[in-house]
Amino acid sequence: MVMDKLGDSLQGALRKLIGAGRIDENIVNEVVKDIQRALLTSDVNVKMVMEMSKRIKERSLKEAPAKGSDPREHVVKIVYEEMVAIMGQGANIELKPQTIMMVGLQGSGKTTSVAKLARFFQKKGLKVAVIGADNFRPGAYQQLKTLSEKLNIFFYGEENEKDAVGIVNRGMKEIEKYDVKIIDTAGRHALEADLIAEMEAINEAAKPDQKFLVLDAAIGQLAGQQAKAFNDAVGVTGIIITKLDGTAKGGGALSAVSETGAPIAFIGTGETPDAFEKFDTDRFISRLLG
Ligand code: GDP
Repeated sequence: MVMDKLGDSLQGALRKLIGAGRIDENIVNEVVKDIQRALLTSDVNVKMVMEMSKRIKERSLKEAPAKGSDPREHVVKIVYEEMVAIMGQGANIELKPQTIMMVGLQGSGKTTSVAKLARFFQKKGLKVAVIGADNFRPGAYQQLKTLSEKLNIFFYGEENEKDAVGIVNRGMKEIEKYDVKIIDTAGRHALEADLIAEMEAINEAAKPDQKFLVLDAAIGQLAGQQAKAFNDAVGVTGIIITKLDGTAKGGGALSAVSETGAPIAFIGTGETPDAFEKFDTDRFISRLLG
């Protein structure tokens, strides 16, 4: 049960509510303080944490507990609902023909995620092809080519070609008959004007159904502004959080959700092509609070 898992994550805080006959303001304040500490440690944006805290306090004290539920269950339910409100229920990934464009800063794990996503659709029985249009990072072409060959996924790329839009235009023709087309684009260390222009041009050329922003779990407080910039350029439709197998808990990515309104679609949990999972709200909540 979700609530049980959440209860476990918040055990210390919620213990204070066990045996309490009714909801007491001091106890709620203590619970909220524990939640704040956990979320801030997980890099969730301070403003988001404060707003959420306020709502949890207000609701816990104002709303009547559901029939038969004790104070602990009442608060757990509210905490859960408020967590879901800021992270969403995750993306609905449709298993149908589609074009996906991947965007993100260099090193975020974009190229690796292209291969993982290709593998995800391939395992569902769809015919997948990828286009390597990251002609900025040395090695990106070879990396995606090698990964694709290993996974038996069709790869289109043009080594040393300077014009990324040209690669995409020619590539899209070449892979026309494939169900799922995934485009890897260039990232930089920061979002520069020419990179934005290139992303916009690729977006225009390929008209992707989905635009996934790839974010490193360790991005922390930079996630919001970065997501906004990518969203302004191409309109982000989903978020992939990578490297959740490391120590970072990825709470910063929630700012990207709030900036773009796009749901989290997948998480990366390792370097291999299978270390990739559909986003699971309950598991992510446990992780942020744990
Ligand atoms: P790009 O510049 O955004 O295309 O980044 P890459 O795909 O080359 O990834 C950068 C580094 O992060 C590589 O060493 C990847 O193996 C690694 N990486 C990507 N995703 C994950 C992940 O989910 N977990 C871990 N541990 N490493 C990852």
